[in-house]
Amino acid sequence: MKRVALLGATGSIGRQALEIVAAHPGLELVAASSGSQPIDGLAPHTQVGGDLTELLERAQPDVVLNAVVGFAGLPATLWALERGVTLALANKESLVAAGELALAAREREGGLLLPVDSEHSAAFQCLEGRQPETVRSLVLTASGGPFRGRVRAELEHVTVQEALAHPTWRMGPKITIDSATLANQGLELIAAHFLFSLAYERVEVVVHPTSTVHALVWFRDGAALAHLGYPDMRVPISYALTYPERSASPVEPLDLAGGLTLEFEAPDLDTFPMLALAREAGERGGTYPCAYNAANEIAVAAFLEERLPFLGIADVVERALGSVDGAPAGDLDELVEADADARRAAGSLLKAVA
Ligand code: NAD
Ligand code: MG
Repeated sequence: MKRVALLGATGSIGRQALEIVAAHPGLELVAASSGSQPIDGLAPHTQVGGDLTELLERAQPDVVLNAVVGFAGLPATLWALERGVTLALANKESLVAAGELALAAREREGGLLLPVDSEHSAAFQCLEGRQPETVRSLVLTASGGPFRGRVRAELEHVTVQEALAHPTWRMGPKITIDSATLANQGLELIAAHFLFSLAYERVEVVVHPTSTVHALVWFRDGAALAHLGYPDMRVPISYALTYPERSASPVEPLDLAGGLTLEFEAPDLDTFPMLALAREAGERGGTYPCAYNAANEIAVAAFLEERLPFLGIADVVERALGSVDGAPAGDLDELVEADADARRAAGSLLKAVA
């Protein structure tokens, strides 16, 4: 029996994880949390808001599924990694922000870090057991979001509702906006660098409108291994929770005979600067990725509240990144400080940009 703590149980990932846990006799939900919605009785240990490490201390799970949104997921990520407890990670923001600190904890304690994000789960499966020197590069796919094919001028007046209309995935509001700006793929690029120890020039993001191929790994002999399936998060959730046994899930295989075409195109970095900004922040290293994430969270929240236009998101992030020092964080306190600095910088830019 695997004892699962589900953080963010009321969210998009959380609800799908509940379905997977309920259907699997080998999985037991011992703890659940939400940000603000009541969840009494969902699990033996529950918590609404507050410090999630307290819940984890009480529950002592075998697996932490971190499906909290944003930097708020960081303490739980570190709690698991610092104890060698298996971490099934949907909360990419915490890995982007903590980077080397998170990896050092994993190194020290030897716990499993199993990605739940579909692209990372796919990459993990294509890369598992390969010799690093045989890997040429990793390709992460992006649907391109609702504004694929548009030019900058056409995005000036887009509404929150238009940005929330994602073509292939049904997700929480923050990641849906991130998918419209391509910040989501920026965060995934940085997270992939940390997860798979790949230099940034070896990780590429390609637009693939149907989200059928989730990731692809090129090897030095010219061969590629790709991971395909319908865009359904229950597959990577199930994979991470039942690793390494890969249990059955309710998801059907692709209907190949029904006609399957695979299209790819290069992302438009001028129209969607969040992707290039992520690469730059990642390459600069230190706390630049943390600042990228923090400024993005502030800008996305402002856009969702109609206090910032869509194009203002990237403007705020770019200018916030220009105003922080990006110095590496030696510990969690310094990281929290870097996050707060970037939030302050982004907050004071909101008015200037809007
Ligand atoms: P969501 O907004 O639907 O759910 C977020 C959950 O976190 C909710 O249960 C909410 O109550 C909780 N929460 C929010 N703020 C909190 C806080 N400050 N403290 C504690 N709990 C808090 O989001 P989602 O779409 O399920 O995404 C969750 C995470 O998974 C994000 O990091 C996202 O990038 C990642 N992810 C999601 C998908 C998807 O399909 N939804 C795919 C890949 C990765
Ligand atoms: Mg993803």
